[in-house]
Amino acid sequence: MPAIDAVGEFETIQRLFKPLAHPEWARGLADDVAALPSRPGYDLILTKDALVEGVHFLPEDPLDTLAQKLLRVNLSDIAAKGAVPFGYLLACHWSERCGWPEREAFVAGLRRDQALFDIYLLGGDTVSTPGPLTFSVTMLGWVPAGRAVHRGGAKPGDVVFVTGTIGDGWLGLQACQGTLKLEQDRLDYLCRAYRQPLPQTEFADAILKSATASADVSDGLMADAGRIAEASGVCIELDLEVTPLSAAADSWFAGRVDEEAALEQLASGGDDYQIIFTVPASQEEAMRREADRRHVRLTRVGQVVEGNGLVVRYRGEDVTPAKTGWTHD
Ligand code: ADP
Ligand code: MG
Repeated sequence: MPAIDAVGEFETIQRLFKPLAHPEWARGLADDVAALPSRPGYDLILTKDALVEGVHFLPEDPLDTLAQKLLRVNLSDIAAKGAVPFGYLLACHWSERCGWPEREAFVAGLRRDQALFDIYLLGGDTVSTPGPLTFSVTMLGWVPAGRAVHRGGAKPGDVVFVTGTIGDGWLGLQACQGTLKLEQDRLDYLCRAYRQPLPQTEFADAILKSATASADVSDGLMADAGRIAEASGVCIELDLEVTPLSAAADSWFAGRVDEEAALEQLASGGDDYQIIFTVPASQEEAMRREADRRHVRLTRVGQVVEGNGLVVRYRGEDVTPAKTGWTHD
């Protein structure tokens, strides 16, 4: 097995990344740029997320699932806008611990998710760093012109929905760190949810059709709801007690004495990669049918009213959460 300095960045690109490249637009990763034809009638949607060792992932996280998470956190943003992804740019800052096997594992994860989500590598950059292992992806997608669903469109009278379950990523981090006491199959499920979150890409067209505002839940349900409220100039009332929990999160929750505090933790932990969105009340039933048809769990977590910011309730009483989401301090 060749050492990395012998192989070099050029070899990494040609041997590992080139097989993942878009057959035309990436130009064999042998040019300075990718070039893609414009698509009449569509807007290009772009987003970027980085993962840094010690900040966003653990040194012991496997590199294949890390590659998947890197793509998925970006795919989640694209889906929340009602868009369809097609390709990505990738920056790899390899740290000293990353030899050829680590790079191959990383590429295996990319390959798996490219097939799963029908996306291609378009280009990127490959560097070595004395600092922490860092990756970043710029994901690109298409949405019909002028139709992207932003954070700013929620209206008083809308209802607030969230897809999937909340809190699995936050619990999953603790499961992976070995600090959570639960049955092994619960721990396995949660750890998987942390390492390989499943973005709601199949729900993007339902969002496109009916949502007035939408965002992916990455920093915490309450924080991301608050951002929609702020961008829309409305008040969002969130009902904490209806927060949708997985069976595994439910078994953790069942052991809590202070239920409200526990729900606040789940709804502020982040790393959920679900979609929180608003629809006019007249669309509520139609939206539930869309979700049923796709086997997507959908929960009405609140409503939009006149006013400003976020109001959190627990069993009808206003509460003041200790924190609403994850922030870089
Ligand atoms: P430059 O000298 O301009 O930095 P590079 O040698 O980094 O050029 O890149 C050469 C080609 O390889 C370009 O097409 C670039 O997009 C591609 N490339 C480099 N690193 C990656 C990567 N991590 N993933 C995908 N493509 C890459
Ligand atoms: Mg370069």
